[in-house]
Amino acid sequence: MKRKKIIAGNWKMYKTAQEAETTIAEIANGINYNQQNDVWTATPFIYLQNLISRFGNTTIKFGAQNCYTKDEGAFTGEVSAKMLQSIHCSFVILGHSERRQYFFETDIIIHEKILAALNHNLLPVYCCGETLAQRNTKKHFEIVEQQIKEALYNLNADQISKIVIAYEPVWAIGTGVNATSEQAQEMHAYIRSLLQTQFGDAIADAIRILYGGSVKPNNATALFSQPDIDGGLIGGASLIAKDFLSIIESASE
Ligand code: PEP
Repeated sequence: MKRKKIIAGNWKMYKTAQEAETTIAEIANGINYNQQNDVWTATPFIYLQNLISRFGNTTIKFGAQNCYTKDEGAFTGEVSAKMLQSIHCSFVILGHSERRQYFFETDIIIHEKILAALNHNLLPVYCCGETLAQRNTKKHFEIVEQQIKEALYNLNADQISKIVIAYEPVWAIGTGVNATSEQAQEMHAYIRSLLQTQFGDAIADAIRILYGGSVKPNNATALFSQPDIDGGLIGGASLIAKDFLSIIESASE
């Protein structure tokens, strides 16, 4: 099945409001509007409303990098999926390894966040991936299987069909060392086989699985040409319009 690729930027906690507007304007002006892929950007929460109202009519879709499990309540400092829906946000990254590492998010919590996002029509981008120690001890398949199982297996057919998965080996995030296209393809095929067993061929074939971890203009083509890699979740390189545009072009080749 031909799946539409997604090139998604994850800005993490970078850029001032002015820098955010300038970068999005550069991306919106530089995009080749004949290219057929989805272009998504997850900016810090506080810029979303402005960016959506200014650039929401371009091809770029805007999303958040996290949301809370509940719709509202006495949860100081949190932002809900309901709030994100009310400003016309399109997607939300959930379970990023930085959330797992620094904010102690578990697959159980992430599963609840996925349900909250789906309830408010936000497409969840569910991140999974092993650490270097886990890969070195050959536990990477087992770890990723457990993450997929705990966060996704009890979704119903309609819910799982709305999920985007990002395989992000922790050792490749922000390190400049990407998984080789063979390593990434091997894990993507494995994730798709898990989905096949649990949800059936049609659903597994349609789910988009992104690769994330030091995707740059010089390695994007090799990664995106793999049969089970349906685009990328891009951190560092998504902060620089020229690099992000070049990666978007690589997905069209
Ligand atoms: C990320 O933030 O999800 C990521 C993959 O970062 P980088 O591209 O910088 O490795």
